[in-house]
Amino acid sequence: MKLSRQFTLFGSAIFCVVVFSLYLMLDHLQLDRTKNPSSGSSFPGQLTILQEKIDHLERLLAENNEIISNIRDSVLDLSESVKDSKGSPEVGNQSRVGYPELLASPPLVIPIQQEDCHFAAKPYNKPADGVQMLDVYDLLSFDNPDGGVWKQGFDISYNENEWDTEPLQVFVVPHSHNDPGWLKTFDDYYRDQTQHILNNMVVKLHEDERRRMLWSEISYFSKWWDSIDSQKRDAVKSLIERGQLEIATGGWVMPDEANTHYFAMIDQLLEGHQWLERNVGVKPKTGWAVDPFGHSPTMTYLLKQAGMSNMLIQRVHYSVKKHFAIQKTLEFFWRQTWGKDTTTDILCHMMPFYSYDVPHTCGPDPKICCQFDFKRLPGGRISCPWRVPPQTINDGNVKERALMLLDQYRKKSKLFRTHVVLAPLGDDFRYNEASEWDQQFQNYQKLFDYMNSHPELHVKAQFGTISDYFSALRPAAAVDPVSNTSPLLPVVSGDFFTYADRDDHYWSGYFTSRPFYKRLDRVLESHLRAAEILFSLALASVQKANKWNDFPSLENYKLLTEARRNLGLFQHHDAITGTGKDWVVVDYGTRLFHSILNVKRVMANSAHWLVLKDKGAYIHSSSMPLLQMDDVQPAQDALPRKMVLKLSTRPRSLVIYNPTEQDRWSVVTVYVNTPRVRLQTASGHAVTAQVSAVWEETTRFLILLQNLPTCPRQLSFVAQVPALGLTVYRLTEAVELRTVPVDYTFLKQHEELSVDSAEPFRVDIPQDDSLPISIENPLIKIWCSATTGLMEVIKYKEGGVEHKVEVGFVWYGTTSNRDKSGAYLFLPDGEAKAYTPNHAPVIRVTKGVVFSEVTTTYQHVTHTLRLYNVQGIEGQSVEISNTVDIRGEFNREIAMRITSDLNSSDRFFTDLNGFQIQPRRTMAKLPLQANFYPMTTMAYIQESGVRLTLLTAQSLGVSSLKSGQLEVIMDRRLMQDDNRGLGQGVQDNKITANLFRLLLEKRSETFKPEWSYPSLLSHITSMYLNHPVIPMVVSPNYDSLTFAPLSPLRAALPCDVHLVNLRTIQAKEGAGPSHEVALILHRRGFDCEFSNRNMGLLCSTTQGKLPMGKLFSELSVQSVTPASLSLMHTLDGGRSQEEIQLKPMEIRTYRVQLR
Ligand SMILES: [Zn+2]
Repeated sequence: MKLSRQFTLFGSAIFCVVVFSLYLMLDHLQLDRTKNPSSGSSFPGQLTILQEKIDHLERLLAENNEIISNIRDSVLDLSESVKDSKGSPEVGNQSRVGYPELLASPPLVIPIQQEDCHFAAKPYNKPADGVQMLDVYDLLSFDNPDGGVWKQGFDISYNENEWDTEPLQVFVVPHSHNDPGWLKTFDDYYRDQTQHILNNMVVKLHEDERRRMLWSEISYFSKWWDSIDSQKRDAVKSLIERGQLEIATGGWVMPDEANTHYFAMIDQLLEGHQWLERNVGVKPKTGWAVDPFGHSPTMTYLLKQAGMSNMLIQRVHYSVKKHFAIQKTLEFFWRQTWGKDTTTDILCHMMPFYSYDVPHTCGPDPKICCQFDFKRLPGGRISCPWRVPPQTINDGNVKERALMLLDQYRKKSKLFRTHVVLAPLGDDFRYNEASEWDQQFQNYQKLFDYMNSHPELHVKAQFGTISDYFSALRPAAAVDPVSNTSPLLPVVSGDFFTYADRDDHYWSGYFTSRPFYKRLDRVLESHLRAAEILFSLALASVQKANKWNDFPSLENYKLLTEARRNLGLFQHHDAITGTGKDWVVVDYGTRLFHSILNVKRVMANSAHWLVLKDKGAYIHSSSMPLLQMDDVQPAQDALPRKMVLKLSTRPRSLVIYNPTEQDRWSVVTVYVNTPRVRLQTASGHAVTAQVSAVWEETTRFLILLQNLPTCPRQLSFVAQVPALGLTVYRLTEAVELRTVPVDYTFLKQHEELSVDSAEPFRVDIPQDDSLPISIENPLIKIWCSATTGLMEVIKYKEGGVEHKVEVGFVWYGTTSNRDKSGAYLFLPDGEAKAYTPNHAPVIRVTKGVVFSEVTTTYQHVTHTLRLYNVQGIEGQSVEISNTVDIRGEFNREIAMRITSDLNSSDRFFTDLNGFQIQPRRTMAKLPLQANFYPMTTMAYIQESGVRLTLLTAQSLGVSSLKSGQLEVIMDRRLMQDDNRGLGQGVQDNKITANLFRLLLEKRSETFKPEWSYPSLLSHITSMYLNHPVIPMVVSPNYDSLTFAPLSPLRAALPCDVHLVNLRTIQAKEGAGPSHEVALILHRRGFDCEFSNRNMGLLCSTTQGKLPMGKLFSELSVQSVTPASLSLMHTLDGGRSQEEIQLKPMEIRTYRVQLR
């Protein structure tokens, strides 16, 4: 042991020298730069020198990393040989958990260029006429007075002669809102409604070329397209060419904007647009989102990047709508918070009234507007709830009816700044019967004809598509076509959460509803991305080796396509939201489940080719695959289980894939059938591994360690995997114990608790169980209560700062009023009540060489706090996992509440779609449920000098109800419908696994609440959490083959550049892949006011520059073509660019040929 320490010290000394010399170089570089403060565009020569220095530095960094990893390997090797010479480690010796330094990755100061810090440091520059949504919330009283016929608004009046000089221009936009699953499954809706709507559309639009129709969901459109003949397809194409049919947005679905991650939002848009390009040849220009439950600027950004210039939104808080209507700001340029100019602006129309149905779209009075929904004519299946039915238009009533409708149009126009009026005409699954087409189109045409033939009315009314409307609006609002600005329209920044449609009915329940599937969605996202990247790399490599025909590219590409579509479908605003019927949820779940299985196959097939040392030995066998994933999910609604690896004296290989663009040291755990394991790298270096017991969920109150010799064990070790690379480890059954067993301590011994001590583990049940529990790694120490097992204090060793960070659980009930919480709504019965378990919890403390953890088992939640003994990224945060089971509860919601000593006041921050951070304020003038917001990847609170971030691996609802608090709802069980059409409660709860990381960071600057960015460490920790390394097991049938690690990138990407996807594009003909990939990159915005010393970051920043020619190690980049986000448009910039550059926060797509 002593000898091993000496070697370690020796190794550390070498590496300190290396680090120090690197530091000196950096320092030198820094000095150079400060000496020439004017170096910039006026000194291109100096810039080149600087660039060369940076390049040089990068190379040195890479070399340094190599040296460091060599040192590390040698240290591991030496210490292993020392152990070898001494036999097995001293079991039972206190010091056996004492060598975390073996697992340490190098401490480094990461060179973050000052230029890269300017972005987050600059103040938010609000345009003079700009509106920031957080300011609007400050302003509003949220008093909800009765507004008369427009209940949530006000009386509108006008002068008859207002349009004398400029006539009113009315666009009536027929639309049919088709949910890809809600009360019926996607297929059932298609069979019963959607196919008839589309079939009738072809006939009825051709009858009169003045008719128009809008469609947006490509999931349905493509299914229908596959079923129709070429004649009908041509008819559809001619409707589109003539402008009668408009495809708006053109995504696979109309996605939810709260729970969705930007990876999946992009993916479903790309899938829809690619389908349109291949089949119809149309490029959508306008976004159309009438039903998502609140709106996010991330969607806006993606639409803009995809080449769209206009958009429409509908579900916005009624008080915000009213405020915007009073200000006449319902039409605005929606700008990103970081937008300095008009680059990110998109022209947005916010619908002013309660709903997108006909009663709430022609004008302020639903009783009148309903009379112009001709599907509700007497004798039909639906009627007007205001009890005044529509009348068929004839010569006798046309004047009276036209004037009545015109009055509504005129009133509506008073809420806007131009004389152009939009009147959507549609509802859910409308126009399914031929008779409805006739009723709507014939009656409206008579009304239009009357209006248009009476010049004294000063109106021009017609059917239009949404783009027809915007084409008229732009000149009317004097929008400059070049600068995309208007003297009439304001600029708005921020988001439209949390939505309320009436009273205190806030739609914050769906941020958490059906959390099991929100987690499953994220699992498919990360697996799909990982499979896309590996498949693209394999395909390019196969092509390079001229083995295209040997590799199952078509079969795998079909699996990927299906997975993209299943993931896309789940982004729908009744899918990921958890607001579908029980059997619809099962349908979605089954699709996600099958696609997870399929993309795992794609990953294994791709890794098979890539990891093979002798490519000549490659034979694909679908019945006997080389690689298999090490976990299995038994059913769509069950948690995955680890496969047990049966080890013998013949080595078994384990391939580990790192799907992130950073080199990585991460803890891998596999299940093995013996504690005696010899673990080695591919080159034969021994690796320290920890062995621990596998605990069954059923052992809640009776924990036994009996029958240990036959039980599976967890084998955990720190794997080192290059960016996007594969590493190979070998496992062999050893004669003696070569792994390091953990120590167990059980606290709060329950009467039923019985623990049999068994080799190789040491089990301790202390007599005095009142002392606080603590676990630690080289960086952090946490203390937990001995009675509850829950965290109380966290200490970061560097600087020795301690903070109170208490984790606890609370319950919410639902109100006793008529309206109660349901799938959409959160209507709690006041503040949360503390979770008080019926039984004292069982607390299990595990201390090991690779990780230590405290697991507390309550009746409704099994809560684990874990610290990884890694000096890199993994060691910087506390991992929190909760296995939640509230299946036996009645109208209850369970939340995890973190209470810290941070003085965060009423401020907190939540992410939007994992893409950007939105500052929040907890407002006493709003009900409790209004202060909950969606959390896709993180939420944080801060005070001067400290930030506490909760990172999440699934979307959930979050709030900070009191200073220093963060609270996340983990599951909800609700026995009733909440009157939004679903017709049921949420009672299909599953045992759900929630995963988080908690990160406490020192921040040197003061607090600027108007804008905020995560630190680089926080970004990368989030990426580790959402994209874990993936172990694959080599089948014993192939143990004669040799495998080689893979490092596809020449160097890891810059710290702030995220590879969103590397997605193989479909071939022009057939269902197989082309030779092109879509490279999608995101340059993250980050805050530099955090220490980056010893954080384990192994990358630097480069002002968003990427040397495309030098990106890959073996593959070469044949061409690079900049494209719009979804590949719809090719952008300027030429082919085969050597270097590309991204602006902060920018997402860019490139068409790339690899070989
Ligand atoms: Zn909908």
